[in-house]
Amino acid sequence: MQLTVWTYEGPPHVGAMRIATAMTDVHYVLHAPQGDTYADLLFTMIERRGERPPVTYTTFQARDLGGDTADLFQRAAHDAYERFKPAAMLVGASCTGELIQDDPAGLARALGLPIPVIPLELPSYQRKENWGAAETFYRLVRGLAGPHMPAPGTARPARKPGEPARCNILGPTALGFRHRDDVRAVTDLLSRLGVVVNVTAPWQASAADIARLGDADFNVVLYPEIAGQAAQWLKRAFGQPTVATVPIGVGATRDFVTEVARLAGVDPAPVLADAASRLPWYSRSVDSTYLTGKRVFVFGDATHAIAAARIASEELGFKVVGLGTYSHEQARDVREAAARLGLEALITDDYLEVEAACAELQPELVLGTQMERHIAKRLGIPCAVISAPVHVQDFPARYSPQMGFEGANVIFDSWVHPLMMGLEEHLLGMFRDDFEFNDGAGSSHLGHGTKHAAGRPAPVTDAVERAPVVAAMEAPVLVAERPIVLSWAPDAELELKKIPFFVRGKARRNTEKFAGERGISPITVETLYDAKAHFGR
Ligand code: SF4
Repeated sequence: MQLTVWTYEGPPHVGAMRIATAMTDVHYVLHAPQGDTYADLLFTMIERRGERPPVTYTTFQARDLGGDTADLFQRAAHDAYERFKPAAMLVGASCTGELIQDDPAGLARALGLPIPVIPLELPSYQRKENWGAAETFYRLVRGLAGPHMPAPGTARPARKPGEPARCNILGPTALGFRHRDDVRAVTDLLSRLGVVVNVTAPWQASAADIARLGDADFNVVLYPEIAGQAAQWLKRAFGQPTVATVPIGVGATRDFVTEVARLAGVDPAPVLADAASRLPWYSRSVDSTYLTGKRVFVFGDATHAIAAARIASEELGFKVVGLGTYSHEQARDVREAAARLGLEALITDDYLEVEAACAELQPELVLGTQMERHIAKRLGIPCAVISAPVHVQDFPARYSPQMGFEGANVIFDSWVHPLMMGLEEHLLGMFRDDFEFNDGAGSSHLGHGTKHAAGRPAPVTDAVERAPVVAAMEAPVLVAERPIVLSWAPDAELELKKIPFFVRGKARRNTEKFAGERGISPITVETLYDAKAHFGR
């Protein structure tokens, strides 16, 4: 185990907490020392939940270690049952709890509680949060749906004619990146295809819901790192196929619709025809063409990193220069995705390695986690968050999915806007001597705009003094006491037209000022770029 200041994933019992917290009537009894209650803050502060997670900690202290910590665990489990009356209970130990080897499973069994008790063996020193979430969900599904499993070899009963297909949505948890909104986006897509959602789990599912997972015709896995293992078991136990495509991006959403329609026996054409995504046109439109070929570095969990690399390269025309993940369990998938882009994947959970790779590759946009947001800020590179771990601002109040056609719109906005800010900064550099764009000028939407470095509004005289300079650019320019009339070469005029309209006038005036001061006429493409370099210095 490596001690570190930042970590991409918490210990596996945090993953178990994400499952229990997502559900409505499951309680988790965790054998853990007093300090481990910190994990509650992830949910109450970062996810902004209005209530504590459904977790009871035994909170043993150093002085308890000489006494009977097993008894402490049993009392905690008994009291939690009496107080919360859950429909099922998870029991396990945190990293430190694991070291005292009290066997929470056996102790809970000895209590004889009248509800299913599911023991969790989460090896804290080898595994991490997502693995813990996957293992917990798998144990819950096996424990609660297992008793309803048909006898081996029994064929799935065929759907009655006219009956809509039913599916489960698997994987969304508490503390997940946009899981809440993805569930809504995918449920909407499914309902437009005429598919009924049997159960969504673990998000807002009850123990009884888990028990009836086998009633569905197939499973939609939103986050393979969390629900992949449970879906594989459901396939073996109930013969339910799994929809393999994760609908992030327009192309993947179209593939998802087609795959679901095939399993449900419906026609995907009406949903595909009414895609309602602005991403494809926006990314082709003239305002976005200057984004083509932007160098992008992608890092996150496997599901989001693979999807982001695909969208960046296939849907936005960016050039992916780096792709990686901290999810060692899904490293193979990320390696394959990187190989398709001619890259070698970066598989690491050491943020310093990620920072070094990012600094070396010098991308123009970073798509990453909360960690990469800090890294990009230090390196002065625009960044958008695409994956957990996330911070409080990544749980927006508004509906903001990543999946489905609306998710693609959200992605376009959140990736392209940081780049536009970059463009503005570049232009501000180019025109910093201009009266409107100089370093001391305030934002144009703040009224008079111009202010001093100290932040006070500039006296009116400042603007008045600058005005003649601008006016002089419109008049014939005096060079060495000999006025010249500037003209533009046709190819330079064409090049000028490529500059966005809202700054084209400024570019023309600055270039003419540059040319006039040097007696250059006609203005050529070379003059235009010399002027750009001059004002951008
Ligand atoms: S020992 Fe484990 S649970 Fe406790 S603080 Fe460290 S990582 Fe968290």
